[in-house]
Amino acid sequence: MRLVLLGPPGAGKGTQAVRLAEHFQCAVVATGDIFRSHVATGTPLGRAAQEYMDRGDLVPDEVVIAMVMERIAEPDCDNGFVLDGFPRTVAQARALDERLARAGTPLDAALFFEIDEDELFRRLAGRSAELHRSDDTEQTIRHRLEVFAIKTRPLVDHYTRRDLLLPVDAIGGVDEVTKRILEGLELRRAAVDPEGST
Ligand code: ADP
Repeated sequence: MRLVLLGPPGAGKGTQAVRLAEHFQCAVVATGDIFRSHVATGTPLGRAAQEYMDRGDLVPDEVVIAMVMERIAEPDCDNGFVLDGFPRTVAQARALDERLARAGTPLDAALFFEIDEDELFRRLAGRSAELHRSDDTEQTIRHRLEVFAIKTRPLVDHYTRRDLLLPVDAIGGVDEVTKRILEGLELRRAAVDPEGST
């Protein structure tokens, strides 16, 4: 299974990514986590990313694309992957499309986590208090939501045109959302392959 997860910060992508990867026995690739671990250990990549992350801006495309392309070439991604936090721009989505087309391993779906802003603020404020993430202050949260609206939202169109978009209602309990996703994927699979021959 090869999935990308789209949605604003706080929509629950990270939580669901781990559960989906477990369910499908594939790798989870969370770009935010990868960057945070590079920042924590002070690698050159971490130093390049930190100022963008602290402002709530996106790390430049060429940096992120190179990192993810390397990561999905690792053997644990042979059985598929759940990408959390990538792609976040049209350029990133195109780079991924090209790589997967060349490898003959297309995406199965792009999950779009739908949630309203009030709920997002509640969740992100809670996370900020719990995890002390330096980019979870109210000002950067606002900025990250703007960046999402401008840079990432266009990917809804991108994946709709490719017939890959699976909208997911992201409000509700964690189990409930997982169930919705698995049902949505099953419905898609049945539509593509009504005989269940694969
Ligand atoms: P959230 O979804 O909660 O905003 P993430 O943990 O996914 O947070 O990402 C944290 C930060 O890492 C982002 O605000 C951005 O600076 C950087 N980042 C992560 N993924 C990408 C990406 N695909 N492109 C550019 N920057 C990214």
